[in-house]
Amino acid sequence: MNDLTVRELTVLCHSIAKEKGFWDEKRNIGEALMLVVTELAEAMEGHRHQDDANFREELADAFIRLFDLCGGLGIDIQAEINKKCEKNKTRPYKHGKIC
Ligand SMILES: [Mg+2]
Repeated sequence: MNDLTVRELTVLCHSIAKEKGFWDEKRNIGEALMLVVTELAEAMEGHRHQDDANFREELADAFIRLFDLCGGLGIDIQAEINKKCEKNKTRPYKHGKIC
């Protein structure tokens, strides 16, 4: 597979999830967000067990779930990331926090 842009990954991840039936019924957005958290928790377990392959795979799962959700909600996450990075560039060192 060629490297895909964030926009292309959003389309791909959402189309796979739709094809596998995960969008047959209206999605519960809170549940979808918490499923991203579960993938991050799995990544944490991979890290704790020094299982680098599992750590990397679970991080990928978290992104896949986010891209799917953005695709399903029609969010152009590429544009949102670009906007937020530009905003972050203007923020002070450590975002102005002392500790
Ligand atoms: Mg997983």
